[in-house]
Amino acid sequence: MDVNGVDARPPGAVHRFSGTKRGAFPAGSCLGFGFVRDIAALPKAHLHVHLESTVRPRTVRELGGPPEPEGPFRSFQEFADQRARVRERLVTAAHFRRVALEFCEDEAAQGTRYAEVTFTAASHGERVGSPEMPLEAVLDGLAEGSARYGIECRVLLDHSRRRPVERLRLTLKLALRHDRVIGIGLAGDESHPLAPFAEVLDAAREAGLRLVHHAGETAGAASIREALGPGHADRLGHGIRVLDDEGLVAEVRERRIPLEVCPTSNVLLGLVPSLREHPLPRLRAAGLVVTVNTDGETALAEEYARLREVFGYGDPDLAALAAASIDASFAPDGLKARMRAGVEDWLR
Ligand SMILES: [Zn+2]
Repeated sequence: MDVNGVDARPPGAVHRFSGTKRGAFPAGSCLGFGFVRDIAALPKAHLHVHLESTVRPRTVRELGGPPEPEGPFRSFQEFADQRARVRERLVTAAHFRRVALEFCEDEAAQGTRYAEVTFTAASHGERVGSPEMPLEAVLDGLAEGSARYGIECRVLLDHSRRRPVERLRLTLKLALRHDRVIGIGLAGDESHPLAPFAEVLDAAREAGLRLVHHAGETAGAASIREALGPGHADRLGHGIRVLDDEGLVAEVRERRIPLEVCPTSNVLLGLVPSLREHPLPRLRAAGLVVTVNTDGETALAEEYARLREVFGYGDPDLAALAAASIDASFAPDGLKARMRAGVEDWLR
């Protein structure tokens, strides 16, 4: 297939992914719980998903180079290096547009009605020598995908904490040029402090952008405190290590700061030994706002199906998680109301 093309599947068809990363899941089946509803039909918002991590294995092959390992990874660095190799294959506007369009198709098949997809626009722009092109091509692909597959998308631009503050300034500039870009945030190794970026984050906030930082994933409670303090985080990317600190749990609960929890990703990166030992049930029991996401490491309906299987969650639990994802999203109010009604219909 030409790398400029996309798969010609009928809209809304349940997509069977090639490879294991975003693999098929058991839908509307038995699983030992009696009748269970089809999770792909449950309207969901997907709030933490890196576009570059969602590139289909076949697309990676067609863009050139050998297939990449999909985890588990021995270290965060190994994971980051693998992702960097995939990113480097995205060069032309057609490449960026293609992965955005395929993202929409794959998400729609998972029952994602609304996605806030993260993209490292400034980094790509520097690498390909065209600051604007990657983001414009992605927005173009998302617009086409939204129209074709009936999914709403917004974009969050992330910035690695390891990179210079000038690049975050450029990221802010890019974000402000496009209505569909609704926020920015820090990602990458959380051992790098947030303080050098605080001034740009202040400017982003004043300009009306949302702030969503990775924190409490690879580092502990201190990273969450700085995300909430000088980082003005509207939501926490991961945030699972909030449980290290009872006082912080109380603060996050009282402020109703949503957590973008990505269970399978945490296991693949070796942050949690297994799904069974994942703190998601403890986060919910602590009264925190928990949303379920993939980080781009798996498929969203599959992630919900795993929670059903591992934690014995019934359909009301899954519906509550979907509703939390909708409420925690930055979607327009009308769309939120329609999605919430869809969740109630799903449970009927
Ligand atoms: Zn992430």
